Amino acid sequence: MKNSFHLNTKILGLVGHPLKHSYSPFIQNVAIEIMNLDYIYLPFDVPPANLKNALKGMLALGIKGFNITIPHKENISQYMSNVSEEASIIGAVNTVVNELGKFVGYNTDVNGIMETLTPYKEDISGNEVSVIGAGGAARAVIYSLIRHFKPSRIYLINRTEQRADSLKYYFVDKMKYDSFKTKELFPPDLVDVFRASKLIVNATSVGMFPDIDDSITTLAESFSKEQIVFDMVYNPLQTNLLKLATSQGAIALDGLKMLVYQAAKAFELWTGETMPVEHVYKALQLFIKD
Ligand code: NAP
Repeated sequence: MKNSFHLNTKILGLVGHPLKHSYSPFIQNVAIEIMNLDYIYLPFDVPPANLKNALKGMLALGIKGFNITIPHKENISQYMSNVSEEASIIGAVNTVVNELGKFVGYNTDVNGIMETLTPYKEDISGNEVSVIGAGGAARAVIYSLIRHFKPSRIYLINRTEQRADSLKYYFVDKMKYDSFKTKELFPPDLVDVFRASKLIVNATSVGMFPDIDDSITTLAESFSKEQIVFDMVYNPLQTNLLKLATSQGAIALDGLKMLVYQAAKAFELWTGETMPVEHVYKALQLFIKD
């Protein structure tokens, strides 16, 4: 990357804590370079106790926008002047834009989810689906499924079942969709649930680097042909979950397309330009291989 900066360079960034490995700086800086824009994207490691002051400082410094990651996605709304309708329903913000001196929160994960799942819309609509997880990623996929895919039932599965229950009541209230069943993440009890699901989404960090030997299930009988298994994890791309699903003939979708398209929407919100997604996607694949 050859990004440079000078007096008028506009600053973008990533706010989270701890800032573990992230591809966002690579994606955004490659796009900025290809488009020859006068921006730079930087990491900001901000612990929760410093969030409020950090945001005040960022506004004062004229930072143009930033992504939000763990652990701030679900509690940053309180510091926004406005939040998009989508982000408000989802209850999580992953992109902030400085709009004339006021911070506005958006959720662009939905764009990444839509790009990934829309080719399978007819398969998903009217069928049962399973979502594992109860964090920000799960919220975005549940919203997208209800709004755009209309499944007949959503199984909400989480290690802490109480969090799955809270999420159920949240979406019953927010979206008036009540065809949920909550379950604890205990794979032997889930074989039938998974087999009944046309789509299974892993929206947990299980299987993510460095714990790449982990998987939400190791039970091959959970999967079959004509199922779609979407693992939001993107490091590694071939998680043990996807390997298992593929071995049973299921369609396996990794988290890279979602990652690039959620970034593309954020890029558009900040710069007003369309991200050259194909170029960025290829550059990212090469970067990951190195
Ligand atoms: P989060 O808010 O921290 O939620 C984490 C979820 O994972 C919780 O439901 C948690 O269960 C569960 N979990 C964590 N460790 C577990 C374990 N060892 N066993 C079982 N469950 C476990 O995180 P998030 O923001 O929703 O992100 C979740 C995943 O999605 C991450 O891997 C992230 O990288 C990925 N993601 C990908 C994209 C993309 O563009 N591809 C975008 C956003 C997120 P408890 O409730 O029991 O703690």
